[in-house]
Amino acid sequence: MDDLLAISALRHYAYCPRSFALIHVEQVWQENRSTAEGRILHERVDSGERETRGAVRYERGVSLVSYKHGLIGKMDLLEIETIKGAPPRYFPVEYKRGKPKRENNNHIQLCAQALCLEEMLNISVTEGAIWYGQTKTREIVAINADLRAATIAAIKAAKIILQSGTMPAPINKKSRCRGCSLQDICKPDVLRNDHSQAYIEELFGS
Ligand code: SF4
Repeated sequence: MDDLLAISALRHYAYCPRSFALIHVEQVWQENRSTAEGRILHERVDSGERETRGAVRYERGVSLVSYKHGLIGKMDLLEIETIKGAPPRYFPVEYKRGKPKRENNNHIQLCAQALCLEEMLNISVTEGAIWYGQTKTREIVAINADLRAATIAAIKAAKIILQSGTMPAPINKKSRCRGCSLQDICKPDVLRNDHSQAYIEELFGS
């Protein structure tokens, strides 16, 4: 169990490898308004309650594991649609407090959940959704080959950081840094402006 990567940690990696290393290697955490609201939202949706409406059963706070990909986690909501004469359709749903973004870290998190479900239930998951609280919209996400490849690559890269303990450089995406609760600890602008390491490497060819 120790070498299983938490799906929530994978999402941190997909957002920024440095924030992943700060949280999961250096054990640093700092809450901001956005992380606090996200945590409260998940505490509410992870109630584990089940209900059935029409042909769809809704299961909340579903525990997940994949030994093939080395993942462990929880799914906010699993919708299981059963229509007579057809195999059940499994549809994972992840809740987010904000609005849809261009970044794919939420998609990678959803795909990791789908990979776990597929292994646990010996099924195929072709689609899922992310529900955004701010816009009250549901984004349908195709669990396609590209997303699967990006997710598997992220799992491998995150595990290498955990095993090696290396600290990645700040990402070059200032918009992500503005929304990051670790800005004060990470100091991305200071590090981006500090060219001394590159100078030493150039000088000594290391
Ligand atoms: S401030 Fe930017 S570079 Fe630093 S951990 Fe956060 S997102 Fe990554």
